[in-house]
Amino acid sequence: MSAGQWPAGTMPALVFTAPGVLSVERVPVPEPAAGEVLVRVAYLGICGTDVHLLDGSSAYVSSGLTHFPIRFGHEWAGEVVAVGPSVPADLVGERVVGEPFLSCGQCLTCRGGHYNLCPDRYELGVRGAVPGAAARYLRIPAANVHVVPAGVESAHALLAEPLVTVLSAFEEAAAQPGEPVAVLGTGTLGLLAVQVAAAMRSPVDVIGIDPEGLKMALRLGARAAWTPQDAPSDAYQVVIEATGSAAIGPVLTRVAGIAGRVLQVGIPGRPVDGVDLAAFVTKGLRLSGVLGGVDLMPRALHLIADGAVSPTALIERVFPVAGAREAFDRMREAGRARPKLVIDLSELQGEEPG
Ligand SMILES: [Zn+2]
Ligand SMILES: [Zn+2]
Repeated sequence: MSAGQWPAGTMPALVFTAPGVLSVERVPVPEPAAGEVLVRVAYLGICGTDVHLLDGSSAYVSSGLTHFPIRFGHEWAGEVVAVGPSVPADLVGERVVGEPFLSCGQCLTCRGGHYNLCPDRYELGVRGAVPGAAARYLRIPAANVHVVPAGVESAHALLAEPLVTVLSAFEEAAAQPGEPVAVLGTGTLGLLAVQVAAAMRSPVDVIGIDPEGLKMALRLGARAAWTPQDAPSDAYQVVIEATGSAAIGPVLTRVAGIAGRVLQVGIPGRPVDGVDLAAFVTKGLRLSGVLGGVDLMPRALHLIADGAVSPTALIERVFPVAGAREAFDRMREAGRARPKLVIDLSELQGEEPG
C-alpha cells in the first residue's frame, strides 16, 4: 500500500459477539467517504463503558440503542493512513486521537452547540451502529480527529478522550482557581480530575473507598484523602462525582459548600437514593450532568503534552492484543492504583484473544 492509498478487503477486529464473548472477527475495511479519514489504530484504552457493553449491562444495550455484535473502542490513538474526498492529504501520516461523538449537526441541540447530546448521535463504539476503534482500521470524520503533539506517546494520548469529560465538568462548574474541589472516585476520571484541579492550583481533596486509589490521588496532588463517611461537610465549591455509585447520594449534598456546584460524571446503574434536595435549596447548590464535552480535545492534549496530566500515573499496563480478554478480566479487579488499561493493536492479525 503506498502512502495515502485507501486499503480495501477485510481486516481483523475485536468484537463483542454476545454478552461476555470477545472474539477476533474478519470484517470489511470501511469504504472511503467524503470528509472522513482512515486511521490505522495503534492503541485502545478500555474503560468501564466497554466493560458494561461486554457484559450487556450498558444502558445503551438495554434501551436498544446498541446491539450485539458490538465493535467497541472509543478511546484510541493511531495514524492516518488515507483520506477521503475533500480532506487535506497532509493529514496522512499524522498521529491522531479522536472525539467519539458523531452528531447530526442539524437539530436544535446541535445548533445550540451541544453536539455531545444530539438525540440522533452515534458514539463511536458505544451508542448506535457505528463501529468503534477495536480493529486494524477506523474510519472517522476528519473533523473529529486531533493531531497528537510531538513528544506525547500514542499510548498516552488516548487519555485525551476521558480528559475531555473532566475538562467539560470543570467548565460546566465555571470552576475558579482557588475554589476547593472534591473529587469522588479514584478511577481514570477521578484521578484525571485531581490532576486538573491541582494544575489550576485549586485545593483538591479526594473521596473514595479504594486505599490504593486514594494513595495515588495524594501522589497526584490531592491535599487530603477521605472515605465517604469521614469527608468534611459543607466544604467544597466544586464536587466532581466520578464513582458512578448509586450509594453516593447522601455524600454529594453533604460535602458541597454554599453555592456549590455538583458535577455528575459517573453513570450510576440505578436511581440514586438519599440525594438531599432540601440541601440544594438551603445551600443554593447546582447539579449538572456531564457527558463528554465540546471543543475540549486540543486543551486535553495540551495538558498531557505539558505534563500537567501524567498518563504514566494512570496506565497500569499495555496488553498485547492476545491479552485483550485478560485486560477485561483485570478491569473488574479492585485495588488497582492505576486504573487505565490499554491494548496494543499493532499486532492485530486475526488471532484469537487469550
Ligand atoms: Zn470511556
Ligand atoms: Zn443533532
